[in-house]
Amino acid sequence: MANADRILVIDDDEAVCGIVSALAKTMGFDCVTTKDPTSFLDLITPSTTLILLDLMMPGMDGIEVLRLLGERHAQARILLMSGMDKRVLETAEKLAQSLGLQVIGRMHKPVPLQALRNTLEAVAKMGPPQMPVEVPTLALPDEQLRAAIERDEFVSHYQPQVNLATGEVTGFEALARWRHPELGLLPPDCFIARIEQLGLIDKLCLRTAELALIDLKGFSLVNGAMPRLSLNASMHSLHNLEFPDQFVALAQSHGVATNKIAIEVTESGLVRQLSRTLDVLTRLRMKGFPLSIDDFGTGYAMMQQLQNVPATELKIDKSLVDLMHENDSDRVMVEKVIEIGHGLGMEVVAEGVTVQEQYDLLRRMGCDGAQGYLISRPMPAERVPGWLGEFARAKTPSKR
Ligand code: C2E
Ligand code: CA
Ligand code: CA
Repeated sequence: MANADRILVIDDDEAVCGIVSALAKTMGFDCVTTKDPTSFLDLITPSTTLILLDLMMPGMDGIEVLRLLGERHAQARILLMSGMDKRVLETAEKLAQSLGLQVIGRMHKPVPLQALRNTLEAVAKMGPPQMPVEVPTLALPDEQLRAAIERDEFVSHYQPQVNLATGEVTGFEALARWRHPELGLLPPDCFIARIEQLGLIDKLCLRTAELALIDLKGFSLVNGAMPRLSLNASMHSLHNLEFPDQFVALAQSHGVATNKIAIEVTESGLVRQLSRTLDVLTRLRMKGFPLSIDDFGTGYAMMQQLQNVPATELKIDKSLVDLMHENDSDRVMVEKVIEIGHGLGMEVVAEGVTVQEQYDLLRRMGCDGAQGYLISRPMPAERVPGWLGEFARAKTPSKR
């Protein structure tokens, strides 16, 4: 194999450097090693495709090396090695990911030679590392946003939630989309924050709720009941003292019971502004709306305040669900969140469920509900009735 790819090994253990270097060279890689974590940056060239990094070194530890690589926007793939316990490797991997680095694996020391050979073979086949895909941030003119609200260009897509114990669909979350005349369907990241700044979010929220209530009447569950609707409320709306009455009026005018309309508010928002929003939240709850704490577990440490929020549901953030079937620490976190939610009398729903393993684990842990691409991506209203029919027919025993 003619391979100009460079492998860089950063490890204070000479034996490891020697073994990796010999193996890499027999496989046609250019391999350089260093025991000095303070000078490694000079050894990285544009052809460096893989960095093997020991997390424990005297002088500078692997975590600092990761930070420096992150600051340099290093493109090389990273394989982490450590003689310490699994959790250290898992934590380091997360840190690396949060710094924009691409970790392709972690190996517990002593590194098994065959596993290392397999990894190097896989790297040789991968080709040059890709630049991370940047999501373009659209700066859309404010007039366009204002006009879009007037022209009713916003629609909702609906994502189902299922009951993990029965496998039945229980409800749908409405997720806003902008049907832009030239750009096509735009996700909420492109417009929600700006609409909040323009003070137009209440208007969008009420309109979204109204359209969703109309759509909801076209959806019916296998038992003929109407599914529950979940709506995302912005913190701004929770400062509006009229919000609960406006919502009650809306529900009444569409003949939908308030206990069928769950209001989702994010944990981060609540942490910042709980005291200012508590009266609106309490009133919503008193009028019968289920209240859900969205994105729970994203690190805002709401634990102490949780018992003061009149919420009925906790939604475990997808970042925790994402690796729960691979990482012990994430799994424990998910388990604890379920325990805390249940302890406070709340239902617990996991979002971002993408693989069957996560689904099965969550069900075994006693989590109440699940939402995610495994069940379905968000879909336009017109697809929902057909999807509900197909889902009822195709329900596999493993999901029941
Ligand atoms: P969210 O409330 O946390 O909604 C869940 C997001 O995760 C949605 O993104 C959904 O499409 C996505 N998702 C669902 N299942 C999976 C999965 O299995 N894997 C992954 N990776 N993602 C999944 P979307 O639709 O782009 O919405 C983003 C955020 O925008 C929402 O996050 C919510 O905070 C906000 N948003 C959406 N609609 C509205 C709205 O009408 N009003 C307000 N204020 N905010 C909204
Ligand atoms: Ca939500
Ligand atoms: Ca969420």
